[in-house]
Parts: sequence; C-alpha cells; structure tokens
Amino acid sequence: MTNCCLETNCTRCCIKTNMVLTTRDIQTIEKAGYEARIFVSERNGWLQLKNSKGRCVFHNGTICTIYDHRPKGCVLYPVVYDKDSGCAFLDSECPQILCFPLSKTKEQQINILVHHLEKERRERMQKKNLTKR
Ligand code: SF4
Ligand code: SF4
Repeated sequence: MTNCCLETNCTRCCIKTNMVLTTRDIQTIEKAGYEARIFVSERNGWLQLKNSKGRCVFHNGTICTIYDHRPKGCVLYPVVYDKDSGCAFLDSECPQILCFPLSKTKEQQINILVHHLEKERRERMQKKNLTKR
C-alpha cells in the first residue's frame, strides 16, 4: 500500500486476503500489541492473515491499521511469485501496477520470502507429523 493506493482509495489486496505469514511477521505484529489468535489462521500448514467482514482483520475500511508493521508479503505486493516458473511478477489483480516497478531487489526479496515461508511450513508439517506418531 502506497500513495497510489491511498489516492485511488484502493483496498483490493486487503479484501478476502490469504496473505501468508512468516514467524517474524507474527512476532512483529505481536510486538505492536496484537495477540496472534486474533489475526492468524492456519490452513494446510500455512499461517495466514485472518479476515473479518470480508477483509483483512487489520483493514478498517479505509487504511491498514498496522501499516508500519504489516507482513513482508504485504510490503512487497503487487510483486508476487510464480512457483512453476520460479519467477517474480506483478499481480495483474492490482489496478496500479505501474506504480510498482519490478526491480531486481524486489525479485530477490520475494524469492527469499517464498523460500523462507516454504521452509517454515515444511518444519511445521514435520513437527505435526512427529507429534502424531
Ligand atoms: S496487513 Fe495491512 S496491507 Fe496487509 S492485507 Fe492486512 S490491511 Fe492489507
Ligand atoms: S491492489 Fe494495488 S493499488 Fe490496490 S491497495 Fe493493493 S497494492 Fe495498492
């Protein structure tokens, strides 16, 4: 979310979000004063932002209420990652993609983020499988 988002009153990427979270994202938001149970849901090993009234629990209808503490995936959006090709690209769902040039740095950042999220999920699933035995 940037000036482009605010100027156009766009909230699209915060509607029915399924943004995945790293452990660090969760810790950062917790430090900002929110309990994980109010904003984290787990689906198939992924930790995701919860929605309320059809939008991210942190969106008040106008702005992101944790803007300075928002998850890395929100910071990088509309830069997203295509698993099949292993490439970063700009999500065409964002109506303002021209405001967000895709730099090498952002490509690297989304790559690192995706690999980190996958690693954490793998570890979480392994732990679950161990406790099932
Ligand atoms: S954390 Fe903020 S930017 Fe991210 S989806 Fe929620 S409201 Fe939108
Ligand atoms: S969809 Fe694009 S323009 Fe709309 S709020 Fe998200 S980043 Fe901003």
